[in-house]
Amino acid sequence: MAGLWAAVMLAHLLLPEGNGLRSALGGDARVWAVVGGLAGVVAAYVLGLSRLRARVAPVAPIAADAPFRPAELDRYARHILLREIGGPGQQRLKSARVLVVGAGGLGSPALLYLAAAGVGTIGVIDEDRVEGSNLQRQIIHADARIGLPKVQSAEIAMRALNPFIEVRPYQRRLDDATASLIADYDLILDGTDNFDTRYLVNRLCVAAEKPLISAAITQWEGQISLYDPARGGPCYECVFPERPLPGMVPTCAEAGVAAPLPGIIGSMMAMEAIKHLTGAGTPLRGRLMIFDALYSDARVIGAKKRPDCPVCGLSHPVA
Ligand SMILES: [Zn+2]
Repeated sequence: MAGLWAAVMLAHLLLPEGNGLRSALGGDARVWAVVGGLAGVVAAYVLGLSRLRARVAPVAPIAADAPFRPAELDRYARHILLREIGGPGQQRLKSARVLVVGAGGLGSPALLYLAAAGVGTIGVIDEDRVEGSNLQRQIIHADARIGLPKVQSAEIAMRALNPFIEVRPYQRRLDDATASLIADYDLILDGTDNFDTRYLVNRLCVAAEKPLISAAITQWEGQISLYDPARGGPCYECVFPERPLPGMVPTCAEAGVAAPLPGIIGSMMAMEAIKHLTGAGTPLRGRLMIFDALYSDARVIGAKKRPDCPVCGLSHPVA
């Protein structure tokens, strides 16, 4: 284009006035000079803009082992102040990958606190959609998200709370077909409300040598423990060897549950997760905590590994 413009300008400057070619091109060099000037300004602007863009580094994704950004240091300052967590503990939380099974009553506060605490990668698996009857206690969801998959609703809430973490939603049931998910995570939290899933998650975690924080609630009472036979202590099936007969232990849907109870026990799950990941305090490994909200009573009882446990007894014999 620039060459063509130069040829037209030359024609006007070199050819005598009245020449046929010069008349065909407009007969006035000033018009072409103005056109050329404008085109030059536009070309210089575009070139300058592309050079400026090249100078700005592309935004890198947040790597799990990347140093904290100033906004993250400010966000986690109250954790970093704690002697038992500090900077190294917060870095361990950022590098950690936690899978939460169930985005219901227990999963709601557990997921929110894991997200707020800065656990770097949080997986959540649940096949259900948000229903109106969930919202009395499943506080990660919202009235406007009724009908959405629970994992999607949970992801929206967690991302809104903390944009510095990665959330991986899996809208499906945890079964043998999806068991390989467990291998991608350092710690599993089970807050599901049915015994089939609870025993299955325990079996998968023992097989993969992954620690499991499992909790359950009904009406006014909840219980929680850390099951980690690969590092000592019993598995879930050591403590609850007898699966209750169908209908003997009612679910929340059948028997009811006080709204804050999953909030209390689900928060304890997040707390035990943070303790486990940072090494703070004494974990609930080999201990079962039972909380009775009606009497405001919490008890901790010892729980032992069973040598004849069909799940962990053979692969991890008692020392
Ligand atoms: Zn066992």
